[in-house]
Amino acid sequence: MTHASTPRPEVSLPVTAQQAASAEHWMAELGSLLRDLENVAGASPAVPAVFGAETDNQVIQVRLGIASSLFAALQCKHPPTAGHSLRVALTCSAWAMHLGLDELLRDHLEIAALLHDVGMIGTPDCILAKPLSLSAEEAAVVAKSRQMSLEILRHSCSAPEILEIIEHVNAWYDGSHDRAAVAGMAIPVGARMIAIVEAFDSMTTDHVYRPAMPHERAMSEIYDCAGTQFDPALVLRFSEFRAADRGAVHETVAWRWLRSLDPELVNSYWELNCVPSSLQQPNTDALFQAKLLENMYDAVVFIDATGLVTLWNRGAERLTGIPGTSMRQCRWHPELLKMADEKRQPVTEADCPVTGAIRSGVQSLRRLTISGRNDRPVAVDSHAIPVSNGGGAPLGAILLFHDASSETSLEQRCQSLHEKAIQDPLTQVANRAEFDRVHEMFIAAHQQLGMPCSLIIVDLDRFKRVNDTFGHQAGDQAIISLATLLKGACRSGDLVARYGGEEFVMLCADCDNATAARRAEYIRKALAQMPQPTMDGRTLTASFGVTEIQPGDTPETMLRRADRGLLTAKSQGRNQVVQLGTGAAADRQPSRQSSSAAARADNPCLVQATLVTPVPVKMAIQKLRGFVADHEAKVVRTEAGRIELELDGERPGRLRRASDRAVAFRIDLRFSEQRGKAGDEPNGVARTRIGVGIRLSRTRDRRRRHDALRRAQEVLTSFRSYLMATEEDNDAPPRGAAAPAPPVRLLPTWLDTGS
Ligand code: GH3
Ligand code: MG
Ligand code: MG
Repeated sequence: MTHASTPRPEVSLPVTAQQAASAEHWMAELGSLLRDLENVAGASPAVPAVFGAETDNQVIQVRLGIASSLFAALQCKHPPTAGHSLRVALTCSAWAMHLGLDELLRDHLEIAALLHDVGMIGTPDCILAKPLSLSAEEAAVVAKSRQMSLEILRHSCSAPEILEIIEHVNAWYDGSHDRAAVAGMAIPVGARMIAIVEAFDSMTTDHVYRPAMPHERAMSEIYDCAGTQFDPALVLRFSEFRAADRGAVHETVAWRWLRSLDPELVNSYWELNCVPSSLQQPNTDALFQAKLLENMYDAVVFIDATGLVTLWNRGAERLTGIPGTSMRQCRWHPELLKMADEKRQPVTEADCPVTGAIRSGVQSLRRLTISGRNDRPVAVDSHAIPVSNGGGAPLGAILLFHDASSETSLEQRCQSLHEKAIQDPLTQVANRAEFDRVHEMFIAAHQQLGMPCSLIIVDLDRFKRVNDTFGHQAGDQAIISLATLLKGACRSGDLVARYGGEEFVMLCADCDNATAARRAEYIRKALAQMPQPTMDGRTLTASFGVTEIQPGDTPETMLRRADRGLLTAKSQGRNQVVQLGTGAAADRQPSRQSSSAAARADNPCLVQATLVTPVPVKMAIQKLRGFVADHEAKVVRTEAGRIELELDGERPGRLRRASDRAVAFRIDLRFSEQRGKAGDEPNGVARTRIGVGIRLSRTRDRRRRHDALRRAQEVLTSFRSYLMATEEDNDAPPRGAAAPAPPVRLLPTWLDTGS
């Protein structure tokens, strides 16, 4: 209630313990109490009609038309409030006329004033008839009646202006009451006027809880509240209006109503179940959200903090086949949708994204499977979003489901295409392209970590005969059984690939030459003992080439070296393992960049070194063969103790690092044998000293000098690995080393310059 129309008078009902002690006292007290109550009731004024009951009804009938029944209900419920409403309406109307307000505003004002308290019909009689001060709860119920008035009229009144006035009758001018959204002149003038008139009427009328106040006092109370509760300018105008002759005011207004109101116009304000257009405005957001939710393709579900489903949009109905009517107010459980995780394990309540979001307040995104229409499992991307109030208390969680089945099948198709691209269809091991790709990364990773890695090449022996004898299908089965055996021998990080026909390669991670050779030996024996069902139970054999990565290697040189091992195994009678290469440990001495003078002024050496290998020159030449073969080098010149090689960087090898630019080199090698003569080496130990100079083969490559220098150093490193050589320390010659022997004549048999 308004400040200016409170408080209610207290009526004391004293009952003491001593009085209660005696029955006589009890009776006397009861008698006195009844008398008091009678007095109170007697003091309650009979509600006088404004003009007389019949006229009042007529006046209301013409003013409200078909809405008169609303007023009649209020009259039945609480005649004092109905009388108050009629007086307020008549006073407001007269005041509006006095102020010269326009006719339409007056219409709105009159109707709003007549019905602003119609919500009282919902207020319990015990509160309305209570002769004492209201408790806080009771006061709240009374305050709510204004809201009730608005709700009732929203369903019947088609004039938003009337509703707006009623909505703001309780608003204080300074906006300080009830956290009002509007204040000052933003409050409709009708509401500001009714607030003053009804406070005045309330204070100047007898109530069960308070007798009527003198008009002057009531007016001074209103002045007191001017600027806070009431519009100060209007308070002044009301005071002026009151000072004027008010004798005939109510009658004048009633006369106007009875004479000039057009019933059709009056009834035009009323329309059952209408929602005034202006009220739709503040709900635009809600309408937008409702439309958005209903038209979203994705499923949107809201689960409140108590675990009840309160929203289940059309997308959710479409995805799950469950209508919203069966889900709303249902207790949420992941089992409702047969939710399963990525591993197809049922999602438990504890693991449910909804529970997680409400409990932790953190969003989650997960790929899940739910039961779709016709119990068909559907892959969905679920997004659980916690919702909390301003203070952070959880209100529930939004659960969004995006149908990911098309993406899943696309992912599956991509996956299967990828598998097809990298797998050999017959044996399901990697194909040659995949091996080439992995091999390069494999070498790089092992070199970076300083770990050894090895390569095994396997080729079935005399396989043509298998095909010829048992048929192509039996041959296929034999190939599959070798692949299965190799796969079974794989350790984590290894890779088996079918390199072609009946030839397989196996990359052995973190594995040196000796270990790789042992593993190859194990596979060889296992194959040789495995009866082949498609070959009448006969067995097969295979030959193996094994090598370990060594300094200066490229994937190409490593593969060629392993291949040479395989060819050697074949040439040595098959069904055996041959390992080649010096391994990663060969490079015990870091490469030193030579600063020796250029051999030729026009094309200086990129790198120069003097190497020593602890083998006689004959063996050093054997090792050189490996280098020449694996690097596909060309011997361009041989003369006494001197060999000149050409490394054609532009020749497309089977493998070359993608980053490498093609650079061709000339490698000048000078061999000389040295023999130790020390007492502990009585017969002398032969060592070979090799002078190496590497320069560009073509002068145009000088533009790529930086790349060329790096590649030349790699070639020198590789050469040193193949030759098992170390760089000669010029400052401190090896102990026991004799003076260089005269250059030996190289055996020209294998050094066919045309090969
Ligand atoms: P070697 O011991 O020297 O390796 O003798 P080989 O008979 O195995 O000789 P080679 O490697 O040259 O012959 C391979 C044969 O393998 C040729 C081809 O008929 C057969 N072959 C290649 N791919 C397949 C295949 O996918 N299935 C079958 N059944 N045979 C194949
Ligand atoms: Mg073969
Ligand atoms: Mg073969």
